[in-house]
Amino acid sequence: YVQLIANPVFRDTKVAGAVLLLVNETEKMERENLRREFSANVSHELKTPLTSISGFAEIIEGGLVQEEDIRKFAGRIYREAQRLIHLVEDTIKISQLDEGENPYEWEKVDAYAVAKNVCGNLKEIAAKKNVHLFIDGEKLVFCTVRPILEEVIYNLCDNGIKYNRDDGTVSIHLQDLGESVEIRVKDNGIGIPREDRSRVFERFYRVDKSHSKSIGGTGLGLSIVKHGVTFLGGTLKMLSEVGKGTEITMTFPKERKTNL
Ligand code: ADP
Repeated sequence: YVQLIANPVFRDTKVAGAVLLLVNETEKMERENLRREFSANVSHELKTPLTSISGFAEIIEGGLVQEEDIRKFAGRIYREAQRLIHLVEDTIKISQLDEGENPYEWEKVDAYAVAKNVCGNLKEIAAKKNVHLFIDGEKLVFCTVRPILEEVIYNLCDNGIKYNRDDGTVSIHLQDLGESVEIRVKDNGIGIPREDRSRVFERFYRVDKSHSKSIGGTGLGLSIVKHGVTFLGGTLKMLSEVGKGTEITMTFPKERKTNL
């Protein structure tokens, strides 16, 4: 028998047995902490553009802006509002993946067609920087969630263009590995310093805050990639060298399998 001495009520009670319930709360607590940290970061990130918008509007309302400068101020307000929209959109995507919410269907998808779509959507952004964006590969069908795959490839290519020099290149390589498929996005841009490589997948982490701000972005792109790839049952590998470029390789099973 077991004598329960920890609780004074049971000190003199003799019992025939006891049930010991051990629950591992670590993962739950980690998720909870991440969520709390994320909310704090989002509030902070929302406050900056909102303060700017409010400030610019107040100056215009006060009649302190010359007629010819009004368009310039409107432009600043527009850009800050765009930042807010992207931030809110990215936040929604992250929380959908976090909650395991998946309104989309798993289906046979051709990664080549998805990559082509991404290239079409990024055509103008790439053209502005004269970055050459191309696909190396052909039809590659596997079971996945099309919008998540598209989002992941889009974010990687978008980064490849953003963190590149004028006249750089970004390529999407598609390869059939039999049981799995490999999708690799490679650029010859500015690269990521060694000490930042493991951290760029964290939410809101940016290598160079001021530089990244002028380039634009929410600091959530790679975090969405990591979540998305995990959701699709894939794995992620990154190679990068400062001044030479970055290569991110994703491997997905051909049949449906989620890691979340
Ligand atoms: P952001 O919205 O700032 O682009 P990401 O989560 O997509 O956020 O990326 C995090 C940081 O990682 C970026 O701010 C940038 O410093 C760095 N980074 C991401 N992709 C690349 C790349 N292809 N080349 C160089 N740096 C990159």
